[in-house]
Amino acid sequence: MSKRAETQHKSAPVSLRNILAVDAAKAVHAAEHLLGRQGTALPGKAALTIAPSVLQDLAGQVRKTTFAVCGTNGKTTVNNLLCAFLEAEGHTVVCNRLGANMLNGIAAAFAEAADHTGRLEAAYACLEVDEASALRVFAYVRPDYLILTNLFRDQLDRYGEIDLMMEKLEAAIRQVPDLKLIINADDPLSVYLAQKSGHPYCCYGISEPTQDGEQTHAKEVREGRFCKYCGALLAYEFYHYSQMGVWRCPQCGFSRPDPVHTAAGILHENGLTFYADGQPVRTGMQGLYTVYNILAVISALAEDGHGGKEELFQTVLDRYQPQFGRSERFRIGRSCVLLNLAKNPAGFNQNIAAVLEDRSPKDLIIAINDNEQDGTDVSWLWDVDFDRMRDESIRSVTVSGIRALDMQLRLKYVEIPSLVSENTEEAIARKLEDGCGNLYVLVNYTALFAAHRYLKKKEEEV
Ligand SMILES: [Zn+2]
Repeated sequence: MSKRAETQHKSAPVSLRNILAVDAAKAVHAAEHLLGRQGTALPGKAALTIAPSVLQDLAGQVRKTTFAVCGTNGKTTVNNLLCAFLEAEGHTVVCNRLGANMLNGIAAAFAEAADHTGRLEAAYACLEVDEASALRVFAYVRPDYLILTNLFRDQLDRYGEIDLMMEKLEAAIRQVPDLKLIINADDPLSVYLAQKSGHPYCCYGISEPTQDGEQTHAKEVREGRFCKYCGALLAYEFYHYSQMGVWRCPQCGFSRPDPVHTAAGILHENGLTFYADGQPVRTGMQGLYTVYNILAVISALAEDGHGGKEELFQTVLDRYQPQFGRSERFRIGRSCVLLNLAKNPAGFNQNIAAVLEDRSPKDLIIAINDNEQDGTDVSWLWDVDFDRMRDESIRSVTVSGIRALDMQLRLKYVEIPSLVSENTEEAIARKLEDGCGNLYVLVNYTALFAAHRYLKKKEEEV
């Protein structure tokens, strides 16, 4: 449990300005709700404009533990699952569950959780934090734990971006002297960052070979495969995916730390079953990244003194609804549709692995946009291991989005023919009509919203 003094801010009077800031945020939130928008950062922006100190004040009122979740992939799932468990234990939790993860979004989550007098009655906070925003966020919010899921090249515009991001994250960590890290031992980049920060860290990992790893194509992108200390090529006992695996540097001795929390006996059968710290876990979610996400949550809970509640954890997992675009299923007439976000090479490779885990016939739609939030450079598509998609279970591939033609060209290089339909809604409509009834839709960030809206609408129509 956190050592935070329970009465730290409870008796301190809330300034009039902070009360105004909270109420302004609530008013903006209510107005947005009327307009059918949700989860935006605007209420937070309103609050911080009126009173820059309001976030610090509200965050300081959290009675027990504040968790922050950073990392390239898996943040939303880890954060929301952690929050769901703490709520199931009966606690009030502040959480930016819709994934607005920069300063304003986090301020919005706190303002919404506060009452009209600027008081916050919450034992815990679970905050998904954008890596590049962590420095600003941690200036106001002092987490007790930082869960770092992984570090991959994101929708980058150039090489070197990951180094820059790691430097920012390290500076953010150094800002919070008591911060404890929870990291993935299988990711050499995360381990390097944790060691370099000088903060205490606790590791989780998968210490045995996995089915995914055996299937992983040798040339799948492994951005972290060089030792960050000495530059030598890391040696792997085995890989799980991307740069994840059991690794060591043959030159300087930098090596994977022994994880405290482990997953073992992983089986892919209508989802996943495995043991996390010896506790049986089953979920309908797919992909090895799901094992890591769940393991990260179990590690954080154990570290904060919530361990050993196997049944409650399983109940929470059974009830857990993935957020929009994270392995979301739709049932439309006779068709089953799975929508998933794939916004960088590591995420895309994991999505392909998940598609192939399902051995039944399927159609596939890939929608790629190049709006600013997607990254305007789509050269990362060349780092995705699309040749694995030459699989008999994939009956058709349709490419869509602003960069449909780039995507088609990419597939052509691995001899996969594709149909082009620039409009994603049209592409989905066609496959609902003439497809085999099992449709996968993989989209990058801005393509997600239109696809989601359309699928939701179709599901409600039927
Ligand atoms: Zn080395």
